[in-house]
Amino acid sequence: MINLIIFGPPGSGKGTQAEKLERKFNLVHISTGDLFRSEIAEGSELGVRASEYMSKGELVPDEVTIGMLRKKMMAHKEAEGFIFDGFPRTHPQAEALDSLLDMLDQQIDALVMLDVPEDEIVNRILLRSKDSGRADDSDESIIRNRFQVYQTQTEPIYAYYDAKGKAHKIQGTGSIDDIFQKLCDTISSIHV
Ligand code: ADP
Repeated sequence: MINLIIFGPPGSGKGTQAEKLERKFNLVHISTGDLFRSEIAEGSELGVRASEYMSKGELVPDEVTIGMLRKKMMAHKEAEGFIFDGFPRTHPQAEALDSLLDMLDQQIDALVMLDVPEDEIVNRILLRSKDSGRADDSDESIIRNRFQVYQTQTEPIYAYYDAKGKAHKIQGTGSIDDIFQKLCDTISSIHV
C-alpha cells in the first residue's frame, strides 16, 4: 500500500510520470485536471462551473474540487494505493486529503516535486498546446498566471509535507525515462 502525491508547476510532467507510476505500482491515478476536463466534455453543471476558472488559469474553488475528489476516492475503496496528480493545490485541500485517507485508514507516504524553471514551463506548455487542444495551454499570459497561482497558492504545500518528513524534490528536466528512474529511486528509498 502506497499513496503518493506527484507535485510541481503546470507542465512539469506530473501527468506523464503519474501514468508510469500508476502502472509500475498498481495505483489508482487521480488527476483533478483530467476529472474536470471530462466533466466539461460531458457538459455537467460541475464542468460548467470549473471551466469558468480553468479558462483563466485560476484554481477551481476548494469545495468543488474536494467534493469531486472525495467521490472518486470513495469509488475506489479497494485501491492498493493512490497517486494524486494536481491535488492538493491549497492548504484546505491538503487537510481534506489527510482526513479522507484517514477514513480509509491510510496516509500519504510521499510527495515528490518535479522541479522545472518557469521559462522551460512556458515553452513546454506552448508546445503541448499544439496537440492538447487545451485553451489554457495556448495563451502565454494564461500560462504565466497558472505559474503565478502555483507559486503563491500551491508551492507552500511542499512545506506542509516537508514538516512531516514526507517531501522530496527531484529535477524535472531531462529525459522522461531518467526522471522516472529518479522517481522510482526516491519511492524505493521511502517505501516501508
Ligand atoms: P496543469 O498541471 O498543467 O496546470 P491540470 O490538468 O492539473 O494541469 O489543471 C488544469 C486546471 O484545472 C488548473 O489550472 C485549475 O484551474 C484546475 N484544477 C486542477 N486541479 C485543481 C485543484 N486541485 N484545485 C483547483 N483547481 C484545479
